[in-house]
Amino acid sequence: MTATSTTDKSKILEWLATQRPAMLALLEELVNTDSGSYDKPGVDAVGAHIRRFLETNGIAHDSIPNDKFGDGIRATVGGGSNTTILLMGHRDTVFPRQEAARRPFRIDNGRAYGPGVADMKAGLVMNAFVLAAFQKFGGAPAPLVGLFTGDEEIGSPSSRHLIESEARHARAVFNSEPGRPSGAVVTGRKGGVFMRFEVTGKAAHSGANFSQGISAIEEIAQKIIALHALTDLAKGTTVNVGLISGGQTVNTVAPWARGEIDLRFVTPADREAAMVRIDEVMAHSFVPGTSATLEIAGEFLEHARAIRAERRWRQQQAQS
Ligand SMILES: [Zn+2]
Repeated sequence: MTATSTTDKSKILEWLATQRPAMLALLEELVNTDSGSYDKPGVDAVGAHIRRFLETNGIAHDSIPNDKFGDGIRATVGGGSNTTILLMGHRDTVFPRQEAARRPFRIDNGRAYGPGVADMKAGLVMNAFVLAAFQKFGGAPAPLVGLFTGDEEIGSPSSRHLIESEARHARAVFNSEPGRPSGAVVTGRKGGVFMRFEVTGKAAHSGANFSQGISAIEEIAQKIIALHALTDLAKGTTVNVGLISGGQTVNTVAPWARGEIDLRFVTPADREAAMVRIDEVMAHSFVPGTSATLEIAGEFLEHARAIRAERRWRQQQAQS
């Protein structure tokens, strides 16, 4: 391993110190481009800005195409070793189209505002300029890989494989997500499972044939109470039904209802325990005659699994 020499380091820092206007210009372009996770053209438009930056700075990169979500972008600086340093970040945001037009990028009192400015377009700018600095002056202790993915906010369904395969041979991974408002750096996060569930009952006119109906809405109401009761704040397990819909008309006993669940957990064992309980709630009919189905819509791993992967890597390094 070659350490970065003092000269390289000071050159890099000096150059970065002169780049503030260029950084803000790139940040403005990114923030003013809508890029909700399901808006592939928008996420790819943010990707085009980044690719242009990489090209201008002579940084090698390739695209990992995706039909549904934004294409992945992988940039590399330096070579000569299979063990890399990974800089990663996501281009998608949680905001709908037109959000950037509604509240475009602006700077007020030394603070930048706009959709995704913190989470995490500023982080993308940071990674882009770190790559550019090492491309310009060299001296990185290991080859750098920059990943700019497009679907993190929905659990990285298309990017997980790419992230895992790049992280597997990285000696360090820096994810430039924002810290906390206090300035604290986030060193871990919970795992999460997004789920959809659907309850089926039986329609009946609620005036003429009330007792022939089976209310899916009554059932989902009971299920929500049971699901929320699974929250255990001391353990760090939380269950939130964040969306519901259902019913046909005001005078019909509701034949259907559906909801979406967000489960967060700290350890894989907590995940399994919560999933067993959630399955039990789904299997139980509080209102006789109803039935329910559950599907996992997206999932992201908890920090513990990432730590174990790192430990494995260290053991492998020690053995080789
Ligand atoms: Zn983020």
